[in-house]
Amino acid sequence: MNYLIYPIKIMNITQTYENDFSHSRHTVGTPKDYPIDDNCGKSGANGYFYCPCDEVEVKKIYGVGTSSTNCLWLESTSKVITPTFNDYVTIMIGHIEDSELKKLKVGQRFSRKEAIALEGRDGFATGEHFHIVVGKGKFAGSGWVKNTNGIWVINTTGGAVKPEDAFFIDNTFTTIKNSAGLNFLDLYMPILEDKYYYTTAESLNVRLGPGTNYNAINTLPKNSRIKVLDFINNWAKITDKEYIAGNYVTKKVPDKYYETKHTTADFLNVRSKPAGTILKVRAPLPRGTTVAIMEESNGWIKIDKDRWIYAKYVN
Ligand SMILES: [Zn+2]
Repeated sequence: MNYLIYPIKIMNITQTYENDFSHSRHTVGTPKDYPIDDNCGKSGANGYFYCPCDEVEVKKIYGVGTSSTNCLWLESTSKVITPTFNDYVTIMIGHIEDSELKKLKVGQRFSRKEAIALEGRDGFATGEHFHIVVGKGKFAGSGWVKNTNGIWVINTTGGAVKPEDAFFIDNTFTTIKNSAGLNFLDLYMPILEDKYYYTTAESLNVRLGPGTNYNAINTLPKNSRIKVLDFINNWAKITDKEYIAGNYVTKKVPDKYYETKHTTADFLNVRSKPAGTILKVRAPLPRGTTVAIMEESNGWIKIDKDRWIYAKYVN
């Protein structure tokens, strides 16, 4: 599984996107990005940026030989799994020295945990560190765009994401010295085996196959807890015959979520309210359909907005 992990061996975050020293202009303008600075454990040039997923490709190298701050863009060569999305990922890294960037070429690829570059202080940084910005999706445009504060922020097909929403911590690789209050998820074996995800879209279609060309047989309300058996072309397979769009599931546990169960009748009617009108859209439900348990009332179960089924045929 192509999990995206934190790219540094000793995490020592000296500034998050919330600090107002030099990062706040990134997060109060439009568009935003969410930079962190990490000095890899101590002052001086001692830590490397490692490939955080199965493979990345160098997309752009900027600033070598100029007074502008050096910047490096890496893009994953396939979709990665993060705590909040399953997509390509693009990472922008600042302050690496000319001498390090001269060793790299656009198009060069690195595999998981391979060292890519040493931390630096190019661009008058106060000390050696990596300035790291993460974007969901592929490298877009020139890789960055000026925000309404005149600050260059990352430009990707899916937009900037917070680092704790992008990286898992592989604690066989990274030691956390200081996370500066950011709450990263651990990638340890119980998490790897935990297949639970939560839906993030209202009335998410459940389809018979991995694509919008397959019939939708039901809908799931936002915050339904489901097991994901596999991801196929960014479609999450939730049972042998049910798929939902992979962009609308997350591993982040919401404050409140709905358990899901399965129907046991051959074709189960869906009604507008308890004992109400029989609906014709996304209904009746074939045997084994995954349904959310939003509410139970006098032998009826609410499975989505204005959709109710008879509780006897669910387990
Ligand atoms: Zn920075």
